[in-house]
Amino acid sequence: MCIFCQIVKGEIPCYKVYEDDDFIAFLDISQATVGHTLIVPKIHVENIFSLPLDLQKKLAIVINLVSNQLKKTLSISNLNILNNNGPLAGQTVSHFHVHLLPRYADDDLQITFASHQISSTEFITLQQKILAKS
Ligand code: 5GP
Ligand code: ZN
Repeated sequence: MCIFCQIVKGEIPCYKVYEDDDFIAFLDISQATVGHTLIVPKIHVENIFSLPLDLQKKLAIVINLVSNQLKKTLSISNLNILNNNGPLAGQTVSHFHVHLLPRYADDDLQITFASHQISSTEFITLQQKILAKS
């Protein structure tokens, strides 16, 4: 059984900060920033591509609820919401989860996007490719 399934079942301890019928939220063991929290569905689902639609809808509400809980209790007003899908995207635990990362003026978290120039032709080709598959 995966590590998050064991946490959901209470077989491994966690610092839980939220729970409902479908999700739990608990403090990430790594605490990349103070209050770093994971939102996890109670059923084992590997990633966003296999998360059932009803849970996707409920997840949006849970993200909002827990974000505002952190805002209020930790007095923060800056937050990153991050979700890694697949090893190339940095997913290390194969049970879907969303990271909530409160941000502080003096934190050392780095999330950077390198900029790659592409032509307008390439943009259009890319746009058409994505539209054709949707
Ligand atoms: P990922 O890299 O898959 O997006 O994130 C996995 C996260 O799970 C990491 O930030 C890691 O610190 C956290 N994590 C892994 N094992 C445990 C654990 O046993 N307990 C808690 N609370 N967090 C864990
Ligand atoms: Zn699992």
